[in-house]
Amino acid sequence: MSLEQNNAYYSVLNYLQLPVVVLSANEHKEVFQNNSFQLVAQHYLNASNNPANRHLAQLISSRLLKNDVDKLEVEINNGSYRHIFRFTANVVGEHVIVEGEDITELKRSQFLFNRTNSLLEDYSKQMFELAHTDQLTNVPNRRALFAKFSQLQSNHKDFSCTVSLIDLDHFKRFNDSFGHDFGDQVLVTFAKHVKDSIDDTCYFARLGGEEFCLIQINNKDTFCFANTETLLQTTKTIKLMTPDNSNIGMSFSAGVAVYGKDGISLDELLNKADKALYIAKENGRSRVVKFEGA
Ligand code: GH3
Ligand code: MG
Ligand code: MG
Repeated sequence: MSLEQNNAYYSVLNYLQLPVVVLSANEHKEVFQNNSFQLVAQHYLNASNNPANRHLAQLISSRLLKNDVDKLEVEINNGSYRHIFRFTANVVGEHVIVEGEDITELKRSQFLFNRTNSLLEDYSKQMFELAHTDQLTNVPNRRALFAKFSQLQSNHKDFSCTVSLIDLDHFKRFNDSFGHDFGDQVLVTFAKHVKDSIDDTCYFARLGGEEFCLIQINNKDTFCFANTETLLQTTKTIKLMTPDNSNIGMSFSAGVAVYGKDGISLDELLNKADKALYIAKENGRSRVVKFEGA
């Protein structure tokens, strides 16, 4: 067909809002551009993101047709005119008909959707952290401890552990003598001391008030018991600076229960550990007592 014949044949495409360009299938020579394509191509030629002033039809020919890709997305940024088109090619006989779809709104919605999604993900991570962290000491809280324990139970068939229930001795005296803020500082100091003393076979959490729990995973009971005793000895070396600039020390009492021997749920283990803790307090505090009994 001659150029005139092609123009007459394809002129019906001028009724379309979509930009359409028709190229020869062999050499990719331009056969026809509809009005909408001419407009878009003019914007592309002057676009700030097209510094080489390439022609849109050339770009389509080199990127979409030669590389055999299904779709070509072209962004045209020309000050107030900012559109993104997705061009697709269809071979019809000896011609390739390339049509562009304006996907600016779609891209904007996708961008907003992804952004909202990632904000929601961040927000939900933050919420999760908040719900599982003790705000004062920054260590895991009771909820996190129970979650960790059930995770251990379900993920590791033959895991073993000991549970040390740790209660600071005469903690009320810190509050009564030096104020509640000082009491808070004692809790923070103690939690940091434990965090710095343990490795990743241990899980340490604040149960509430001046009560903490240390779970030691996959180590011998005797080793875990000795570890808790060592923790007590090092805790006793902490020097707390009081508001009147004197130094005082601290200690704790602990009850220790063994998973599988003294119970298989964390509630049971804490119950038994609490009985041993009671004995430690009764016997003068500042000691670690193993639960012995049924
Ligand atoms: P014992 O050796 O028998 O454990 O005595 P204790 O004084 O440590 O225990 P008691 O249960 O008599 O007192 C605990 C105090 O801890 C009472 C409560 O007001 C205080 N407490 C609980 N939570 C906090 C907290 O977050 N910050 C401060 N500063 N005090 C707290
Ligand atoms: Mg207590
Ligand atoms: Mg106490």
